[in-house]
Amino acid sequence: MRLLVVEDELKSGDYLKQGLGEAGFQVSLARNGLDGHHLAMTENFDLIILDIMLPDVDGWRILQSLRENQSNTPVLFLTARDSVEDRVKGLELGADDYLVKPFAFAELLARVRTLLRRGISPKQTEKLSIANLHLDLLSRNVLRDDKKIVLTQKEFALLELLIRRQGEVLPRSLIASQVWDMNFDSDTNVIDVAIRRLRAKIDDNFEPKLIHTIRGMGYKLEVEGD
Ligand code: CA
Repeated sequence: MRLLVVEDELKSGDYLKQGLGEAGFQVSLARNGLDGHHLAMTENFDLIILDIMLPDVDGWRILQSLRENQSNTPVLFLTARDSVEDRVKGLELGADDYLVKPFAFAELLARVRTLLRRGISPKQTEKLSIANLHLDLLSRNVLRDDKKIVLTQKEFALLELLIRRQGEVLPRSLIASQVWDMNFDSDTNVIDVAIRRLRAKIDDNFEPKLIHTIRGMGYKLEVEGD
């Protein structure tokens, strides 16, 4: 699941990005309102965490633009000011929930999960599948042939990416940026190692084989012979 965090305070931003990343989300962090506004309007997120007090384009504006564009992406806003007017304004503008700073990370995580559960309409995907492999994005369960498979967070993120883009050859550079949030350095074999581990878990003891190496290009998830 992809989250956007818009937060100008360096420490809070890093903290949110790291914590949510460790909780298994793919997090994009915008450190100012302008970038946050741009990302919110141009990319798809499952949820947006929005700081209200931003130096340039404030959280209200971002929220307003989103709703004016018929975007239903759930928005959780963060406010330092615990005034009734702020909360009312946020909710009137179409925020789904709010949290007053400072907050406990556990509470933020609980709110995020609740909003994601609520925000999922039947059209959106909560479960991803290919052949007899099933991923549940909320419970984070992975089943192959009805057997439960335990993946690390990175393996889960890697599999989620592969399954969302099944049939496409994904270059290592794309996998590196999407799953590891890093630029691909051809000296590192981190991706190949991760693929090998993932294969051992989801492919080695099952048929049909799903992960395919495309030499010199990258990896592809596909039912053989499709
Ligand atoms: Ca702020």
